Amino acid sequence: MNPTKASLLNLLSEKVYSMYERIDTFIIDTYNVDLKWDNGGKYGAVCLRYSRSGKTLCTLYFRKEQLGIWIILGKEERKKFDLERENFSDYVKEKYDETTVLHDGKWLMFDVDNCDLFDDIVMLLRIKKTPNRQLTMCGYCCDMCKAYKGNIKKKDEREELSKAWKIYYELNMPAEAIQCDGCRCRKAEAHRIDDHCPVRACVLHRKIINCSECKEYPCSLFLTRKGLSYEEANQIEEIDVANYYNYLMAFDNKSRLDRIKKGK
Ligand code: SF4
Ligand code: SF4
Repeated sequence: MNPTKASLLNLLSEKVYSMYERIDTFIIDTYNVDLKWDNGGKYGAVCLRYSRSGKTLCTLYFRKEQLGIWIILGKEERKKFDLERENFSDYVKEKYDETTVLHDGKWLMFDVDNCDLFDDIVMLLRIKKTPNRQLTMCGYCCDMCKAYKGNIKKKDEREELSKAWKIYYELNMPAEAIQCDGCRCRKAEAHRIDDHCPVRACVLHRKIINCSECKEYPCSLFLTRKGLSYEEANQIEEIDVANYYNYLMAFDNKSRLDRIKKGK
């Protein structure tokens, strides 16, 4: 069940795809979550669940020219909603009021065919979960990277990563050689894949958090470590959205930092 961008665009239409893309980007930029594509059953042709440690953040159902957004609010989350209620649109307030509370919470399902509810959805997601995504100094994401020690311990996907690096970055690194303590590891003996990364050194020297805070971004040094966007990767070899997320999205630093710069 691995759709491509083209197949999702074909199903949703451009307007609805843009809502999916905005929600997906917001979630991935903000939260350390796992993505699972599945059959949508009676709710859609296909669905995408964002979750972590057995807790679902939200589920998207993909239908003909429509996106179903499913968010469940538990007891504590409903208290937060009540406090922030006036910030929500009338449509969401009505939906909230008319939805019954089941054993595990209020199951809010929004059927959308445009981007009008984007701000409401973001507020609901912020109620559900505090942002916890951490970036490297160049804008990569260690917690999304299959080379990261903690991720290898959970599920070793280095064979797949090694293949992806070879195809998309012409990097020859056998799976067993892949292991990284992460960009922000403070151990003196920390091992990093890119041990002498000049961007990391530059960010440390400038005492900033990452390149998005730098006036010179995106400088030529940064561009030596620029990763591939979905479109760029797809041009090298067609890739579905799940595999892109699993093995390449961690390194799409320029798209990510551009969004931060624009304040999205
Ligand atoms: S390879 Fe880069 S993105 Fe992956 S864990 Fe190491 S520092 Fe982080
Ligand atoms: S000069 Fe370039 S590499 Fe250094 S912090 Fe700025 S953008 Fe990043």
